[in-house]
Amino acid sequence: MDRKDLANLIFPNAKDYTYYEEKYAKRNLTENAIVTRFAPSPTGFVHIGGIYQSLIAKVMAKNGGVFFVRIEDTDQKREVEGGIKQILDALKDFDLCPDEYIDENDVDHGNYGPYKQSLRKDIYQSYAKKLLEEGNAYPCFCSAEDLDKIRENQEKAKERTGYYGKWTKCRNMPIDMAIEKIKNGDPYIVRFKSPGNPDKKIKHKDVIKGSVEFPENDQDIVIIKSDGLPTYHFAHLVDDHLMGTNMVIRADEWLASVPLHLQLFYVAGFKAPKYAHIAPMMKLDGEGKRKLSKRKDPESAVSYYKEEGIPKESVLEYLMNIANSNFEIWRKQNPDKKMEEFDFDIKKMSVSGALFDMVKMLDVSKNVISKFSAEEVYNETYNWAKEYDKELLEMLENKEYSLKVLGIERGNAKPRKDIAKWSDVKHIISYMYDDKFDKNGEFEYQKITDKDEIDKIVKLYFEKYYDESDDKETWFNKMKDLSESLGYAREVKEYKANPEGFKGHVGDVSTVIRVKITGRCNTPDLYEILKILGKERILKRI
Ligand code: GLU
Repeated sequence: MDRKDLANLIFPNAKDYTYYEEKYAKRNLTENAIVTRFAPSPTGFVHIGGIYQSLIAKVMAKNGGVFFVRIEDTDQKREVEGGIKQILDALKDFDLCPDEYIDENDVDHGNYGPYKQSLRKDIYQSYAKKLLEEGNAYPCFCSAEDLDKIRENQEKAKERTGYYGKWTKCRNMPIDMAIEKIKNGDPYIVRFKSPGNPDKKIKHKDVIKGSVEFPENDQDIVIIKSDGLPTYHFAHLVDDHLMGTNMVIRADEWLASVPLHLQLFYVAGFKAPKYAHIAPMMKLDGEGKRKLSKRKDPESAVSYYKEEGIPKESVLEYLMNIANSNFEIWRKQNPDKKMEEFDFDIKKMSVSGALFDMVKMLDVSKNVISKFSAEEVYNETYNWAKEYDKELLEMLENKEYSLKVLGIERGNAKPRKDIAKWSDVKHIISYMYDDKFDKNGEFEYQKITDKDEIDKIVKLYFEKYYDESDDKETWFNKMKDLSESLGYAREVKEYKANPEGFKGHVGDVSTVIRVKITGRCNTPDLYEILKILGKERILKRI
């Protein structure tokens, strides 16, 4: 009996691996094209980090490469119904559609599928069989108790834990004995036979982390579990080999597995991909920083952005800010360019983890939305309101009017920047709707707070100066005339030069009108507001 017999006994039906080598031909790509992937588990929660990773993957693959999605569902306990759809929908929502993927009906889109690990069992077994035949894998019959015992002994002896070297009970089991046990029905799993020597070092040049050095791997890790499915490590070897991945972009929690992964590729005789390990997004917490957490931070869920109405453009723009800190400067210099035109450099990504800051994201979002047309703001807000805010939806029913309101100070050189998310819009525009405007409200006036003075200004303005048909310049001149007639400076400059000589200046006076009409001291352009409201409604308000 030899290794071949053992391999045949364990995987009697597995095809020779060369079948798959031929079936999945090498990709025909230009020299520097990057093939990369996003490999999530369908756990029912899509983390914003997945969008971050996919954005980077997509950008890296843009010059003739491939960005594919592979569903990693070998841990079937963690799987959630509808998990795949959730992932694909999230990617679609953020314009990060993969070139190749499997859909929720298990239909593959692409030539390197199945893009779902649970459908690849036969493939893994063929490659496990290859390793068995070559003497690079073996069946292990250790029970959970055996493994506990080994760990106890290792702890007692103050040695590293794990299944390696002299601790491996089954590694050197005679083939005949293994065959007999299997025939006997003894339960087993398949382990990799590591050739590593931990006294030796391996050097790895990570695309993001740079040069790192590790001791060689010597752990005989499990490659095929008792349910016949592979472990992450083995699936990574088989899948990324067959799917032609040449750059693995993944979370840096996997960095420590690089010695094992390189060894697996080496032993199997396949070319290893490059690795780019992304540091997690961090969040300030008190004095320190911590990972953005699924449990503590609502903004870690992709669904949060949809619910809040933060547009995808803003999220992507902010994620690019985090990915390459020079993006911000580029954006300032190129306010009108598309994000895709930015020359992203994966090597410039943070090694230790960039800060994820919602305040900053909303700031970026204000800038992004300021470039939207009124029509775009209207449509996006309307769609958001349909799902999340019936009251806002009603306000938006009159499209023509809403477009006017949303169009104030938009489409010009210095557009308004007050909207960060669609859920802000209701509050921001509410005073433009009479049933939302509380004319008896306790408004906060600014400099001029004396009630009689306020009444005097308002009365005089609307009796003597206000004319609905004035153009902007005339309107402003009249505001100055009004100010002057009441003892306020026509110009701020004038007032500053001689503060004793005036009660205040034109800005103070117009603020009174602004607050009276809108209830707010900060609004976009008052002239446009008055124009849109029109005389009749204004007079009702005063
Ligand atoms: N399924 C693994 C994870 O979600 C994928 C890691 C990888 O990209 O290789 O962590």
